[in-house]
Amino acid sequence: MTNDSPRRTFSVRAQVLSVTGVAVLLSALVWHAELADFAGIGSGADKQPVVSGSGPGGTTPPPVDASTPAGTPSRTPSRTPTRTPSRQPATPKPKKQATTPSYDESSTEGMSPKLRTRLLKAIGAARKDGVTITITSGRRSSAKQAKLFAEAVEKYGSFKAASRWVLPPEYSAHVQGKAVDIGPRAGMTWLDENGYRFGLCRRYDNEPWHFEALTTPGRACPPREPHAVAKHD
Ligand SMILES: [Zn+2]
Repeated sequence: MTNDSPRRTFSVRAQVLSVTGVAVLLSALVWHAELADFAGIGSGADKQPVVSGSGPGGTTPPPVDASTPAGTPSRTPSRTPTRTPSRQPATPKPKKQATTPSYDESSTEGMSPKLRTRLLKAIGAARKDGVTITITSGRRSSAKQAKLFAEAVEKYGSFKAASRWVLPPEYSAHVQGKAVDIGPRAGMTWLDENGYRFGLCRRYDNEPWHFEALTTPGRACPPREPHAVAKHD
């Protein structure tokens, strides 16, 4: 039940109108202010441009760069994204390859000085006799010898049988630079007969190409061995 008098109704209406009017007025003022900001009217250099997207309320501090013209939105990002990672990932050190030196097997490279000197003298003397001596295999790397031995095991079927022809790296005089295999056949024959003059001896019955510095130059060579044996002395 209502018993409002017309006067009271008017009063309420007036209040409503008044409130509405104030609201409209405030809206207009706010709108004007924003418009003024947007147009750059009355704004100083220290004012944040509305279009900068800093959001309502202007909570973002004014741009540090005061030289930016008012109203001109700065397109320069305040912070340039750096591509440099703050934490450098631990770059794994390149694994050091087992640096097994490789040798030119068909030369005196890597041979012991004693073997090299004697061999070169013998090659020169053989040439005077019209005989050519070529180096087929001198110093071998441990890796190469291991490969040769593995192939020999395949071929001969067992460690023992293979080692009659090719010794494992730990036993091979080639890996120590103390043995040389030569060719061709005439060269082998010549060195077998004349090698002792230079201190070079054929060591095995089954390897006419294999020579080592086993005696004092001019002295007789030690008796030949039937074949190589992979055993400690
Ligand atoms: Zn040999």
